[in-house]
Amino acid sequence: MSVRKVEFYRHTVGAEELASLEKTVGSYFLTLGPRVRELEGAIADYLGGGVEAVGVTSCTVGLFLSMKAFDVGKGDEVITTPMTFASTTNAVIHAGATPVLADIDPRTGLLDPAAVEEAITPKTKAIIPVHLYGQMCDMRALRDIADRHGLLLFEDAAHGIEGERDGYRAGHLGDAAVLSFYATKTMTAGDGGTVIVRDPERAQRLRVLRNHGMSKDAAARHGGTYQHWDMLELGYKAALTDVQAALLLPQLARVDAQRASRQRLVERYEAGLRETTGVQLVERSGKSTHHLFAVLVPERDRDRILRGLGEHGIGCAVNYNAVHTLHFYRERFGDQEAQLPIATDFGRRTVSLPLWPKLPEDDVDYVVDTLQSLLSET
Ligand SMILES: *Cc1c(COP(=O)(O)O)cnc(C)c1O
Repeated sequence: MSVRKVEFYRHTVGAEELASLEKTVGSYFLTLGPRVRELEGAIADYLGGGVEAVGVTSCTVGLFLSMKAFDVGKGDEVITTPMTFASTTNAVIHAGATPVLADIDPRTGLLDPAAVEEAITPKTKAIIPVHLYGQMCDMRALRDIADRHGLLLFEDAAHGIEGERDGYRAGHLGDAAVLSFYATKTMTAGDGGTVIVRDPERAQRLRVLRNHGMSKDAAARHGGTYQHWDMLELGYKAALTDVQAALLLPQLARVDAQRASRQRLVERYEAGLRETTGVQLVERSGKSTHHLFAVLVPERDRDRILRGLGEHGIGCAVNYNAVHTLHFYRERFGDQEAQLPIATDFGRRTVSLPLWPKLPEDDVDYVVDTLQSLLSET
């Protein structure tokens, strides 16, 4: 018997990206040249202006550099969510600070502003909300808390640039927001990331930090007559390349159309699963990027369902087992399950189903039917 195959994700990198890449490969600069600047300008424009974009090697590195650029480090606490990829909390530790986890809203999986407020201590320096699955957090409430307590606010926007809530988009209310262009994200160059910042001086510091701490990038040094550079501070090797920017520019132009395709598929999933016993849909408000489609199933059935979907040729994933349940975090910070009951439960029940712009509708129906029959086997 041949098993039907439904892939979890497929990127849309193709002919347009190849043409764009050809232009860059045939040009002088392969990194920190005109295509990086073009992409940074296009991202800032896409977000409505009033922000600057700084291309970096990844979202992880972008979060780390944001903390460096705003002087978050040793002795500081950074409040974030356990319902995220370990990258978020890893970046805090790499910056020398301590991640403090606050619990989530059980309906949305998003960091709960009330729990954030309770977790604030005299050592707290920043908050990092994560726009989980593409649904933006309540940034107005979080900005208000940050302002009242004199804290920085960094957004983990790895799940896409396309979101909007209460009229605000990524980077509009945060001091910095960080995008990811990793292989499975809504725009991809295999790897890559971008920091969005409103303050031009911080943007400039990020440009210095991503390039060894140098005062001038390659285009500035070699664009006309040679110019001397100085090293202003101890920086990192962390810039996005023109090769990556060339792949990303055509994708940015169709990012909204692809989001709309995913939204139609999500609506089809939700219509199919709304009445299904054992399935809890994750609530949304505002405009999600629809990066991932996750549902909650009973904890006792979760691993059997993951296996069953796989046996039916359906790609699936877990986004995420809560960060504090991972080996390293248990060892370093102790067992936090009792303090974080909602995220612990959410992380044990979540299942991500296939979602990508050209996923056929009858594949969605097949996934719905398969999930329903697996659930009825209990
Ligand atoms: C993918 C992801 C990251 C890390 O992005 P990289 O670009 O791979 O560093 C961080 N946070 C979340 C929520 C992610 O999904």
